[in-house]
Amino acid sequence: MATLSGHHALVTGGGSGIGAAVALTLAQAGATVTICGRRREPLEAIAAQHSDIHAEPADVTDRDAMLRLYKQAETARGRFAIVVANAGGARSGPAEKVSPLLWNETLAVNLSGAFFSVQPALAGMRERGFGRIVFIASTAGLKGAAYVAPYVAAKHGVIGLMRALAAETAKHGITVNAVCPGYTETPMLDRAVERIAATTKRDAAEARAALAAKNPQRRFITPAEVASAVSWLCGEDTAGITGQAIAISGGETW
Ligand code: NAP
Repeated sequence: MATLSGHHALVTGGGSGIGAAVALTLAQAGATVTICGRRREPLEAIAAQHSDIHAEPADVTDRDAMLRLYKQAETARGRFAIVVANAGGARSGPAEKVSPLLWNETLAVNLSGAFFSVQPALAGMRERGFGRIVFIASTAGLKGAAYVAPYVAAKHGVIGLMRALAAETAKHGITVNAVCPGYTETPMLDRAVERIAATTKRDAAEARAALAAKNPQRRFITPAEVASAVSWLCGEDTAGITGQAIAISGGETW
């Protein structure tokens, strides 16, 4: 029997990159999966790849929209036993030029959005005595990095949020963990490469090589590697693992 059969999972940002890989991996492991994001088309394209993936557009920064998503998806497919808070994004620039708008938007999607994505699941998980929450943080949640101050602050906040929730839920059969990828082959990486190439006047191949060199294995992480770790953390046999930030970075952090 597939290991996640009978579980309903929410994957935010499930229409592309890491979130899409997580949604497909969880569905292949037997879960029924609801994916959200702001744009409907990418969600429907992923849902079309597996009959147990369902698209529900919603913006994670809008708490009321997330409550509506919960109502709709849980009425249709049962309460969420698994939540993967993956939606996020980064824009770069020197800290001294970060506008209040950029600061607020970055924290809204990466930190507040992560909280709004998991908070409505807590009561149901506690009643059921089972829950699996995984935040997609980043190595930027474990160490500093230049020119992405709001993102680094938000991802460190996600690690703190994960630890707080792990402490609060441990006795209820709920685990709360974070995975921390290094640079990963997704549309977000493509956008970072374009920005670096434009600001440093290098071509895209040089910019990609410079980013890959930050990984001691001299390569990018794949979305499938991240999805595999998430799927493992969502299983019944990882009940003892909670409050952990697991780097998937080829040894970028220790
Ligand atoms: P991606 O392909 O750009 O995926 C981000 C997803 O989040 C998109 O599907 C996007 O869909 C969704 N999203 C963005 N803002 C949203 C919002 N307000 N509400 C709902 N959904 C929203 O990039 P990715 O690399 O897979 O990123 C996934 C996660 O991995 C992020 O948290 C990122 O910080 C983290 N991460 C990425 C890397 C990397 O190198 N790629 C490394 C470490 C960590 P819509 O635009 O349709 O809303």
